[in-house]
Amino acid sequence: MAIRFHNTLTKQKEEFKPVEPGKVKFYMCGPTVYDYIHIGNARAFVVFDVLRRFLAYRGFEVTYVMNLTDIDDKIIDRAKREHTSTTEITETYTQAFFEDLEALGVAPADYHPRATEHVHDMIALIEKLVEKGVAYQSNGDVFYDVSKFPHYGRLSGKNPDDLKAGSRVAVDEKKRNPLDFVLWKSQKPGEPAWDSPWGPGRPGWHIECSTMSMHYLGESFDIHAGGEDLIFPHHENEIAQSEGATGKPFVRYWLHNGFLKIEGDKMAKSLGNFRTAREVLQQYPREVIRMFFLQKHYRSPIDFTPAGLQAAKSAVERLRLFYEKLVQATPDYAAEEVDKRKASLGEAARDWLARHEKLKAALVAGMEDDLNTPVALSRLFDMVRETNKLLNKPELTPDERNLLKIVRKDIEDFNSFLGVVMAATESGGSEITEALIELLVQVRSELRKKKEWQLADRIRDELDKLDVVLEDKGEETTWRWR
Ligand code: AMP
Ligand code: ZN
Repeated sequence: MAIRFHNTLTKQKEEFKPVEPGKVKFYMCGPTVYDYIHIGNARAFVVFDVLRRFLAYRGFEVTYVMNLTDIDDKIIDRAKREHTSTTEITETYTQAFFEDLEALGVAPADYHPRATEHVHDMIALIEKLVEKGVAYQSNGDVFYDVSKFPHYGRLSGKNPDDLKAGSRVAVDEKKRNPLDFVLWKSQKPGEPAWDSPWGPGRPGWHIECSTMSMHYLGESFDIHAGGEDLIFPHHENEIAQSEGATGKPFVRYWLHNGFLKIEGDKMAKSLGNFRTAREVLQQYPREVIRMFFLQKHYRSPIDFTPAGLQAAKSAVERLRLFYEKLVQATPDYAAEEVDKRKASLGEAARDWLARHEKLKAALVAGMEDDLNTPVALSRLFDMVRETNKLLNKPELTPDERNLLKIVRKDIEDFNSFLGVVMAATESGGSEITEALIELLVQVRSELRKKKEWQLADRIRDELDKLDVVLEDKGEETTWRWR
């Protein structure tokens, strides 16, 4: 099956055809490193991490680039407020960002370029735009002349004339046209600056991403992603700059995630309604946070509510219990032997496998259909339900044990991009779980001695629901996993 993406540029779902077959060049707008990321930002980094890993699972060689914006007004303001240097601020929050990504189970990109490392490339790109007559200098600033780019507004679906008419765009007498945007800002007192043909100054935000993406991925590349707030003006301006300079199509597929909302508003630093990713990670394991994001399609809004997180938590708990049982039932599992096991199955097991493979194909098809993770997760839970029927049998045939190994390999492969299944140990539940079961069994023995049968039975029944089987022999009670 082909992979399809909803492309913001064409407003349609399109078949994914990379520039170079088998390879994917993928750029994601990274954070401005002036503060901790919030849980809304985390959504963007998680969903595109899932996409990147899914593409790798599908056999593509992916080059993933995520920039770090380490020159920006917000950084300068914060450094001033805290009487410190901009480097101090950016170093602190760059490190925090990588810690947060790791805590969220997001792998580092292949490249994480920092804007400050590419100022010379940015200057070169601006010079090219000036030479081509699509950018102009004005009192030490350089602006992009939007009237010279006929496709301006194509990505965001905005019409330049309407934009001008509804002139909410700040009037700046340095600009020829209110829509023109800054490529180079002349230095203001006390601000960091670099030398340039237009005097000391610093690059604008949009030129940073055009420069760094083309530097690592080439002038035309496959996927460019970010939150939907970046469509206009950031990504619209990136297209104008890049295509204005190269004359080539910049990006094939533009992908944008929907907002994480809180009480109806977009979660944003500027609105003060945010929770940092690290705060939320203290309350919930990463698998729960990822499940919470992935239970919704990446383009739909999500409400950040305790009920939503709770639902994600129960789903993760179901998966954890299932996977733990699966691991215990396959002690001599070796991923590389699974194909051999498939070949040796008898007829009944082959039927079972055919049904499992159908679910597997449906899961992958869900992912291929514009990254429909809710569908993929539903098929995963169907698979769990079917496999639990095997796991709950009192005795397993050799074929059934092999089926469990096949399922285990698939679950681990899916988890390589979903990241929602918690690790399990071969030896049974985690130490703490086992200690708690032991404790309940002892409490129950005390209750039995006092003839408090009702409560004792309730403990046995509740444990049974969790697949913990109690066996009484006289006054002694032993327990085992089902
Ligand atoms: P920023 O540091 O604000 O540039 O944001 C980093 C990434 O998070 C960008 O891709 C934004 O589009 C995305 N983002 C920001 N706020 C939200 C939100 N409330 N929900 C989802 N994504 C967001
Ligand atoms: Zn960007």
